[in-house]
Amino acid sequence: MTVHPLPHAPGEGEQHLEPLMHEEARTRVRHVTGVEPQGTFDHDKIAAAVRMLFEAIGEDPDRPGIADTPARVAREYDEIFAGLLVDPVDVLSVTFEEAYDEIVMMRDIPFHSMCEHHLVPFTGRAHVAYLPNESGQVTGLSKLARVVDVCAKRPGLQERMTTMIADALEEALAPRGVMVVVEARHLCMEMRGIRKPGAETVTSTVRGVFRKDPATRSEALTLLRGRT
Ligand SMILES: [Zn+2]
Repeated sequence: MTVHPLPHAPGEGEQHLEPLMHEEARTRVRHVTGVEPQGTFDHDKIAAAVRMLFEAIGEDPDRPGIADTPARVAREYDEIFAGLLVDPVDVLSVTFEEAYDEIVMMRDIPFHSMCEHHLVPFTGRAHVAYLPNESGQVTGLSKLARVVDVCAKRPGLQERMTTMIADALEEALAPRGVMVVVEARHLCMEMRGIRKPGAETVTSTVRGVFRKDPATRSEALTLLRGRT
């Protein structure tokens, strides 16, 4: 079974197809992560799996409505799992010495991820804070949103995503403290299982001064709530 999104002639076109597809895939990943991906996904394998999934539930994979779905899902995975192809630390590689000595926080960063236990989405907001190190090393604000995105775009768990964001910040910026809070709704809890629509799961990782110094922590929490 062959599923190729691009029409091609046998012979010369055959040799051309793979690199072209890979370049398109890389472009999609670059677009959503802002960094150069390390490799690409096996689109043929993804498409074959989706086709098999349709067969397994008694759908006709050649039915007009879904005939293009396997190839479409393969391309879509370049975006929703793009984080697997890049290192979150690379996202934060641009740093500035700003001699900034106060808390930097970005609140309400929206994200979409995919629960690795059920392969359905969990979606929510992340709040990320750090206290720069003595040399005042900071990163661009857009990079904070980007690192959340990269940590989310993979099959994962909310708990691991939360620590992954904190790890990346620690490694890239060596800050005096890091706080990451993630609030999310899990479709695996809403569509199936205990069926609790609206329930939010909150996870947090608190490190460095935010953990040791109650005053700094409470300042960060106040900023995080933003409503006091
Ligand atoms: Zn789940």
